Amino acid sequence: MYDVVISGAGPSGSQCAEKLAKSGYNVALIEKDTNWRKPCGGGVHSSVINLYPQLKNLKKPKIKDIVMHSADFHKLEFKGAGKEYLIIVDRLELDNLMRKAAIDAGAHLFDKNLSYDFIIQEQQKQGIITKSPTGIKEYQGKIVIIADGMGSKLALKSGMRSKWKINELAIGKCSILEGNTRLDKESVYIFFQPFKGYGWIFPLSNERFNVGIFTFGEDNLKFNIHKIYQNFLDNPNIKNYIPDSNYKTIWSSSYLFPAEGVLEKSLYDDNLMLIGDVGGFVSPISGEGIQTAVTSGKVAAETAIEALEKEDYSKRTLKKYKTDKEIKKIIRNFKLKRSMIEFFYENEGKNLNKMLILSEEDAEVKKQVINMFAFGDIPSKDLVSRIIN
Ligand SMILES: Cc1cc2nc3c(=O)[nH]c(=O)nc-3n(C[C@H](O)[C@H](O)[C@H](O)COP(=O)(O)OP(=O)(O)OC[C@H]3O[C@@H](n4cnc5c(N)ncnc54)[C@H](O)[C@@H]3O)c2cc1C
Repeated sequence: MYDVVISGAGPSGSQCAEKLAKSGYNVALIEKDTNWRKPCGGGVHSSVINLYPQLKNLKKPKIKDIVMHSADFHKLEFKGAGKEYLIIVDRLELDNLMRKAAIDAGAHLFDKNLSYDFIIQEQQKQGIITKSPTGIKEYQGKIVIIADGMGSKLALKSGMRSKWKINELAIGKCSILEGNTRLDKESVYIFFQPFKGYGWIFPLSNERFNVGIFTFGEDNLKFNIHKIYQNFLDNPNIKNYIPDSNYKTIWSSSYLFPAEGVLEKSLYDDNLMLIGDVGGFVSPISGEGIQTAVTSGKVAAETAIEALEKEDYSKRTLKKYKTDKEIKKIIRNFKLKRSMIEFFYENEGKNLNKMLILSEEDAEVKKQVINMFAFGDIPSKDLVSRIIN
């Protein structure tokens, strides 16, 4: 019997496993395939590097500069001056680095195991059943943590969450391409669209970059992701940055992620917690989820440690996960971002176009717009009325 069984060794599951194992608990970390590269831009916030100092060994540039473009290609350059920065990492490399940290701490990783059901004993979910190349396996645990991403079957089987509706999601397509670019290796490039979503180009190395686009909300039904991805690459303004037509494709894929914020009502139950994408820990508008996945994994581990010490795995004890101050802060921040979506994307992106035009002309507006995108601040009433009028 393990103390904790975790389904999914992405950023949330690996962080959770590492923290529990470091505290001396016996952890099973179940993963369907450690060779799978999660479709992702790979933008990692500096706060994650505090938990994973090994990331510094990758010697990635510290990116502080964001070059934003409105749908009509007005440009706003943000030169970050504070301590916060991003690094861009290939997700296969990132996930395996995080898994290794969990294994080094003492967690047991079980690869090629697809979890599909719970072990039920005395009417409690006391572990996970998986399919593996050598047959059906059972991993018993006092606490089960579901960290297996967007498509989690366990989350549905737990009864804690219903199926995602298409308008609660974002659909993204991205690739790692290789060839000649005109990118500054210390900047990331964001391209807002006349629909809900944005395109990006993130430099990975001198020759490689991650490029992608996503839609979210009701716009998922209006656009075909493969078409808008191709139109994005073919757009002359994008060609300013990536001019060639014969980039070598290292990898390309499409995937879904939650776009509505944290599922506050579905985070914990008796013996169970949901972390990362399964629990909706992805920032509305920006789609960033690595940092918040890691935070949810860390807090779930702290909650599980307390429960294991008390030998009480009831939802009364596990509630602390949701009421933790870091989780509450994420919930608040995501609600704020959600409240700004309609304003941003009203009139096919015209508000955004206007915001970026005003930013070119007025330093105070520029500061506000940057604070809005970079730090989630709310625009002033004056700015809103200038944009609308
Ligand atoms: C197109 C796109 C671009 C993105 N870009 C960024 C970005 O630049 N920066 C950022 O911060 N966030 C980005 N995100 C969001 C980010 O990828 C996720 O929020 C983050 O990976 C969530 O981590 P997680 O551990 O919760 O889930 P995941 O990373 O999805 O990990 C889940 C793990 O569970 C495993 N698994 C799945 N099913 C099973 C099963 N049945 N049994 C066992 N194992 C299973 C998977 O193989 C995987 O390893 C992007 C997302 C998408 C789709």
